[in-house]
Amino acid sequence: MNLPETTKKRVVIIGAGFAGISLAKKLRKLPVQVVVIDKHNYHTFQPLLYQVSTGGLEPDSIAYPIRKILKRLHNFYFRLATVTKINPELKEVHTDIGKIPYDYLVIATGTRTNYFGNTEIKENAMSMKSVPQALNIRSLMLQNFELADNCKDLEERKSLLNFCIIGAGPTGVELAGAFAELKKHVFPKDYRHLNIDEMEIHLFEGAGVVLPPMSAKASAKARKFLEDFGVHLHLNTIVKGYNGDLVKMDNGQEI
Ligand SMILES: Cc1cc2nc3c(=O)[nH]c(=O)nc-3n(C[C@H](O)[C@H](O)[C@H](O)COP(=O)(O)OP(=O)(O)OC[C@H]3O[C@@H](n4cnc5c(N)ncnc54)[C@H](O)[C@@H]3O)c2cc1C
Repeated sequence: MNLPETTKKRVVIIGAGFAGISLAKKLRKLPVQVVVIDKHNYHTFQPLLYQVSTGGLEPDSIAYPIRKILKRLHNFYFRLATVTKINPELKEVHTDIGKIPYDYLVIATGTRTNYFGNTEIKENAMSMKSVPQALNIRSLMLQNFELADNCKDLEERKSLLNFCIIGAGPTGVELAGAFAELKKHVFPKDYRHLNIDEMEIHLFEGAGVVLPPMSAKASAKARKFLEDFGVHLHLNTIVKGYNGDLVKMDNGQEI
């Protein structure tokens, strides 16, 4: 990798998410060379991914150039690269654009969606951890609406307009709420000849409440909000499988 020679210690940070960016900023006054490596040249503001998935925001509203965020740091270098291997004996990071030696290494590569070991759901469901994944949800949603608008068969139309979200944590609740807002305020105007009641939003949660880690008050308020909006809540329900067509619940029901 082409970087200036330095007598300073080199800190390599893999990942320019919240963690990598905060650390790079904290190191600004230390006599070190900071090299941030990320497979994207933009930072993703994940809390608003659901807005991109539902068309409320454009992708560039939540994807910001990493170089701009860190432009005031004099000791900072960014490289767009995917890390493929780390050699701790030689203190080297290997990437698709070459290798780089380090004195200190920080791995801040984030997390992956947890499917709780369910490979069928992993293969067939959509995830929402990156901008491309959020755009996939948005594209599928709009493609389904276009198909439904031209579909004579009621069952097929209902299937195209059926949205199932597994997990009523913050992400699932936000996404269900955003779909419900589209159903109420946007789609009736855009698809005037569709019966919008054929669109259903189902939210599945293994616990007996929505937003299980939050306070009872927040949870009850979110539940009321979703129910008032017509979201079908399936609490105390584990989704056992999804084959790309049918969602199978542990109580034997299928959607
Ligand atoms: C839909 C959603 C909503 C959320 N809402 C909230 C919220 O409201 N409030 C809240 O506090 N938190 C929220 N979170 C959680 C929060 O976004 C994460 O905790 C946070 O992004 C984690 O930061 P991180 O730096 O550890 O990882 P990330 O932000 O995931 O960053 C990891 C970086 O590493 C890079 N990377 C990964 N592998 C490699 C590789 N091999 N080579 C090079 N680069 C690599 C990635 O491109 C990425 O830029 C939400 C998360 C999601 C998915």
